[in-house]
Amino acid sequence: MSIPSKSYDVVVVGGGIAGVAAAIQAARCGLKTALVEKTVLWGGLATTGLVNIYLPLCDGYGTQVSYGLCQELIQHCNDFGPGGVSPCWKKEHGASHDAKRYRTDFSPASYILSLDQMITEAGVEPWLDTVVTGARLSQGKISALTVENESGTVLLKAKRFVDGSGSAVLARRLGMKIHTTKNYRSIWVYETNKGKMLMHYGPIGVSPKASDLYSDDVLKAAGYATRESLGQDTVEGISGKIVTDYIMGTRRCVREFYRECYEKKGESRSEHFPVKLPAMNQLRMIAAIDAPTMMKDGGEWTPAKDSVGMVADWRKSGYVWEVPYSSLYAKDGPSNLLFAGRCMGAIGDAWDVMRVIPCAAVTGQAAGLAAAVSLKHRVQPKALAYSTLEKELRKLAIPLHFEELGLKCPF
Ligand SMILES: Cc1cc2nc3c(=O)[nH]c(=O)nc-3n(C[C@H](O)[C@H](O)[C@H](O)COP(=O)(O)OP(=O)(O)OC[C@H]3O[C@@H](n4cnc5c(N)ncnc54)[C@H](O)[C@@H]3O)c2cc1C
Repeated sequence: MSIPSKSYDVVVVGGGIAGVAAAIQAARCGLKTALVEKTVLWGGLATTGLVNIYLPLCDGYGTQVSYGLCQELIQHCNDFGPGGVSPCWKKEHGASHDAKRYRTDFSPASYILSLDQMITEAGVEPWLDTVVTGARLSQGKISALTVENESGTVLLKAKRFVDGSGSAVLARRLGMKIHTTKNYRSIWVYETNKGKMLMHYGPIGVSPKASDLYSDDVLKAAGYATRESLGQDTVEGISGKIVTDYIMGTRRCVREFYRECYEKKGESRSEHFPVKLPAMNQLRMIAAIDAPTMMKDGGEWTPAKDSVGMVADWRKSGYVWEVPYSSLYAKDGPSNLLFAGRCMGAIGDAWDVMRVIPCAAVTGQAAGLAAAVSLKHRVQPKALAYSTLEKELRKLAIPLHFEELGLKCPF
């Protein structure tokens, strides 16, 4: 029996922030674009994973460094909910700002509604509840992806593909080289306590005693390896078993926490209870592709001759990076495949800089644009002349180099 198929110009794998940005950009370039997401929600870790902080677009000293869809996506994340960026960031380009960083908290549910709207308005064809299971190769290129949903198996054919899966699923399925690293445990719970809904995660907002969730005593009592015994309470890899153990272990810690609240502290179950748990694994750094240019430790303030935009280190002020186009495709592998988001080519501390929401948006938009421009110029993404891509990035008014914003290393 032949497998039913559909044809597109671009197919994007994964509806996280990187995939959404890639698909919106490709569709805005007039390409027939499919966005395939295995859950029923857009946003990936940012929404399904309950992460609710859009980290900064600025350098920490008052200068915005990330533009384009990264800015659109932050401006829309509170359309259906409370909060928003500090009003000082709504001033004109280049205006001076106060000390507040260009970031915001958001409600994941609200953000999903905004993403529905942005995807629809861009003309992206959505495939929800659909998992990408493999890729078909022909003459060094991907010709189609196999996807599964309730209708069965479908072939999605396209000329360009973007992997925004967060875990480099296409690279792994195709046996391409990847880089992995260790992850530490996250315990993320939205709960209500005495009528107050807390939109925060484990160690900060769940309750004054939430740090208990992380303590070795709680882990030990729950029968799990402790940070002490494991060094950092880390896991590496993404096998079904590793992910299952990681999630079950995390939730057991949460159970122990609530049990203690009720049994030892006498709290009321009707007043203090969990409302929502993450619906995807909270591994931070799963797989990075092996790119011609790997973003590496100490690379801040290093000019990239093929920069697609800039990002700031979310952890500290004054560290700005130019993001190379040559980090968005693999050294070896299909010539029509781009990567975006946290599976791009970055390792070590640079990976920690690049794995967050604004960077996913910057790299997603660049990958979507590169897919469109390479198609228009009839070259494969790997062979796309940077000057051609640069011209299109400039049309989108995206600053590419430090000096364009008058930025210098402050140290
Ligand atoms: C605990 C934790 C806290 C964090 N805190 C913050 C924070 O405060 N602020 C911040 O900016 N960042 C934070 N991050 C990082 C950030 O949220 C993510 O790294 C970022 O959102 C990644 O975006 P992405 O689009 O690259 O990947 P993902 O968000 O992982 O999106 C990938 C999408 O692809 C889908 N997918 C995967 N495989 C397939 C397949 N085979 N078929 C179809 N679909 C598939 C997934 O379902 C998912 O929707 C945090 C991360 C973690 C784990």
